[in-house]
Amino acid sequence: MDKILEYSMKCPVCGNRFTVSDYLYEAPYIGKLLLSSGICGNCGYKWSDVRLAESRGPRRITYTVEKPDDLNALVIRSSSAKLMIPELGVEITPGYIAQGYITTVEGIIIDVYEKAEFICKNSNTASNNCRKKLEELKKALNASIRFTVVIEDPIGVSTIVSSRAKEEPLERSEKDY
Ligand SMILES: [Zn+2]
Repeated sequence: MDKILEYSMKCPVCGNRFTVSDYLYEAPYIGKLLLSSGICGNCGYKWSDVRLAESRGPRRITYTVEKPDDLNALVIRSSSAKLMIPELGVEITPGYIAQGYITTVEGIIIDVYEKAEFICKNSNTASNNCRKKLEELKKALNASIRFTVVIEDPIGVSTIVSSRAKEEPLERSEKDY
């Protein structure tokens, strides 16, 4: 991995400045990736991002999970991208402190499950809804329900590594961005 750039960023937690390093990495089956990471020396806040080194232009990526194997597809979701799973009511939007990551479809569902479980434990209202949601997510983890992962990336540096992933140009609209 080659370090190609170093810059500083303001810590969203404590306001201190910390240094972020960018690395270029040639990933098998994917191509050139840009990995960024930094840690705040003052409060320990960690930030990281991952992007395709070459933008493919604003795009929407759609990937349908129909069987357990489909859960293993690699997902490169940059901090600029919005990720949705309409069937599960999941919507992860990029924010000021958004981070990018490489994971699998399974990893995304596990992450959503853990967050949902945390929210369910800490709220006494809507517990029926919570239970229903967790059951749905469990089914998704077994691929016993069919669902679609949609990534919208206005910068075009995210991807899902599968021949079954569909990519199409994304029309930018004022309303969305
Ligand atoms: Zn900090």
